[in-house]
Amino acid sequence: MSLANTISILERLVAFDTVSSRSNVELIDWVANRLEDQGAKAFVQHGDEPGKANLYATLGPDAPGGIMLSGHSDVVPVAGQDWSTDPFVLTERDGRLYGRGSADMKGFIACCVEAAPRILAAKLSVPVHIALSYNEESNMHGMRLLAAHLAASASRPAACVIGEPTLMQVVVANKGAAIYRCRVRGHSVHSSLRDQGVSAVEMAAEVVVYLNALQRRLNEAERHDGFEFPHTSVHAGMIHGGTAHNITAKDCEITFEVRALPGVSAAAIVALVREHCARELVPRMRAVSPDCDIVIDEILDAPGLDERGNGELARRLMPLCNCHALGRVSFGTEAGMLQEIGVPTVVCGPGEIRVAHQPDEYVEIDQLARCRGFLDTLTERLARGELVLG
Ligand SMILES: [Zn+2]
Repeated sequence: MSLANTISILERLVAFDTVSSRSNVELIDWVANRLEDQGAKAFVQHGDEPGKANLYATLGPDAPGGIMLSGHSDVVPVAGQDWSTDPFVLTERDGRLYGRGSADMKGFIACCVEAAPRILAAKLSVPVHIALSYNEESNMHGMRLLAAHLAASASRPAACVIGEPTLMQVVVANKGAAIYRCRVRGHSVHSSLRDQGVSAVEMAAEVVVYLNALQRRLNEAERHDGFEFPHTSVHAGMIHGGTAHNITAKDCEITFEVRALPGVSAAAIVALVREHCARELVPRMRAVSPDCDIVIDEILDAPGLDERGNGELARRLMPLCNCHALGRVSFGTEAGMLQEIGVPTVVCGPGEIRVAHQPDEYVEIDQLARCRGFLDTLTERLARGELVLG
């Protein structure tokens, strides 16, 4: 079984610089045209910002049900990373293919595009959909939009596989990913008169202290041993504020995240932070100066993937990819958004998450071979009516 075709498709996909801050339209059009030429029906959904689009291509009958093979088209930046090859030129060395997105997750997309002619030739009675989203690595707006479209569509798939790199093991659960920006507005005075001012830096520090206390409470609460860190986590990753050592800071901004266990609401956790600010911190600040405030905005809130919704699908797919034990991961994926609209979803794709987002990211050619094998077996089982998707 030659993988030359898969590799040449991957080479083309990697050459599109689809870092999340840039346009992904050229890649989407390239895949859409290719699949349409082969007989698929391609729906390009324009995004909520210019230069962004999703693709939903249907192979086989225009009917409800079937399975969706889904990947994000964007990649993380290479700026500041020390690569030993050009990250946008796929480079083969020792059985590995190096390039930005090779593992996360253009390798999976290449396998799907390569398998398309065989899926079409199989004349399946249920459709196989190839879905590509944008901005997975930033705000997940692409899948948010596509999921809304599918929720209202008559041709909603019965199941979905998202090909994030899992070494072709079936992952049934991932934590949620929610990001928040907390803006603290203080009151500036010369620091020698500090009792007449409010330092936004100091108040932001109190917010961080509260977040740490919240983490200790979460450690006492729910536990799920399937995850390496078995609790919901809260983490402040960035803080910026102040202009000089002798001015009480007018502004300070914290960016924090909540990685909630499946079934746990990040919004409910952030409500506790907002309540603490409103009850304890803001009144203290306003007692000095009424213009002070703390505002927390949501940047992203993607739900976790809850294995209570996909067990049956996982059991049916496991034998198709030689998976012996179900996995759970702590990184966020788009899977929870699909399960929210009633599409059972698992994560399974070639490559390792360990090398994703890193310089010299790679996918092993052997992983692409396994993915190809999985897609061919899937097609075969669907053709024989042996794989019931619910
Ligand atoms: Zn990814």
